Amino acid sequence: MALRRISKEDVHNITSGQVITDLNNIVKELVENSIDANSTSINVTFRKFGLDGLEVSDNGDGIKAEDFQNLCLKNYTSKLENFEKLIDVKTLGFRGEALNSICNVSQVSILTAAASKAPKGSELFFDREGDLVEQKIINQSKGTTIRVNDIFRTLPVRRLHLEKHSRKEFQKCLQTLMSYLLILTNIRVIVYNVDGSGKKKIVMKTAGNSLIKDNIVNVYGATGLQGLEEVNLEIDLDEKYSIKINGMLSNSSIGSGRLSKDRQYLYINQRPVEFKKIIKLVNDVYKKFNYLQYPMILLNLEIHEHLIDINVTPDKKTILLSNKYEIILMGKLETYLEDHWDNEGSYNIPVN
Ligand code: ADP
Ligand code: MG
Repeated sequence: MALRRISKEDVHNITSGQVITDLNNIVKELVENSIDANSTSINVTFRKFGLDGLEVSDNGDGIKAEDFQNLCLKNYTSKLENFEKLIDVKTLGFRGEALNSICNVSQVSILTAAASKAPKGSELFFDREGDLVEQKIINQSKGTTIRVNDIFRTLPVRRLHLEKHSRKEFQKCLQTLMSYLLILTNIRVIVYNVDGSGKKKIVMKTAGNSLIKDNIVNVYGATGLQGLEEVNLEIDLDEKYSIKINGMLSNSSIGSGRLSKDRQYLYINQRPVEFKKIIKLVNDVYKKFNYLQYPMILLNLEIHEHLIDINVTPDKKTILLSNKYEIILMGKLETYLEDHWDNEGSYNIPVN
C-alpha cells in the first residue's frame, strides 16, 4: 500500500483513546477543570458506578458565550498562551485536550453560567468532533456542570471492559477522587452514586475545610488521624531555590502505622503525582523504625514551576525534576526523616 496521510478525523479517533484511557481519566480531567475554574464547591455524581454516565458540577467561573463554539475543540485552552509559558503554568490543565477527547469517546453536554450571566445560563450539546451542535437558554446559577453519557460508545472493547469491571473501575475513580479530597482545602467536594433504582447516595465528602487534618477526618473518620504528625519543612536546594514540604506522616510507634500502603499520597504543588522514588524513600526509612507496618503518607512538595516538567504524559502524573535537585532533595529528606522518627518516641496527636 502506498504511503498516505491518515485523515484528521481518524487521527482524532486514535489519539482521544489515549488521553481518555478509562473512566478514572474522565473524572480526573473534569474535577481538575472545576478546580482550575476557582470553584469552592464541586459535586461528582456517578450513575450506576459510571456505567450510565456521570456529571461534575461546580460553582466556579463558568464559561463565557464567546467560548462556546471552541470549548470542546482540540487544543483550545484558556490556560496556556504559548509554549514558552508552559514553564510558568500553575493550572492543572493546559493541553486543551480533555473535553475534546471525552467528546470523542462519549456524549457530552454542558450547562454553564458565567458570573455576570447567572441566573441565566446555557445548555450546550457537542458532537463527536467537539463541535457545538445545539444551544439552549436555561436557568443556572454561576458555575458549570459537565454531563458525560454513553461512555466509550465509540470504543467497543473498552465499553465491554467497563461493563465487565464496573466496580473496579469505580473504585479506581474513588482512589483518584480521594487524593483530591484530601489535599484540597477550602473546596467542598461531594461524591455521589445513583444506583439502578434511582437512589442517590453520598460515597464520600469533604466540608471545604481549611486544614488537611480535617479532610482526613472527613474521608477516613476521626480514627484516621491516629498516629499522624504534621510535617512542615523547607529543604534548600541551592542559594536560589528551596522546596517546602507540608502534610501529614505516621509516627514510628508500633500500633499507629498501617498494614498496607493504601494511604500514601504525594503531591507537587497540590497536584497528585506519581513520584515513586520519594514514596519508596519514606517507606524505606520508616521500615528502620517500624518494620511491621507502613506509614500513612500525605505530603505536598511546593516546588518552583521552573524546576519541574509536568508535560511528560497526557495525565501529567509523572513529574520530572532535574537530576541534580532530585539527589539533593532525596538526601536531605532522608536525613530529616531519620532524625524525625529517631527523636519522636511515641508521640500521638490527640484525636478529638
Ligand atoms: P485544559 O484544561 O487543558 O484547558 P480542557 O479540554 O480540559 O483543557 O478544557 C478546555 C477549556 O474549557 C478550559 O481551558 C476552560 O477554559 C474551559 N473549561 C472546562 N471545564 C470548565 C469548568 N468546569 N469551568 C469553567 N471552564 C471550564
Ligand atoms: Mg482540563
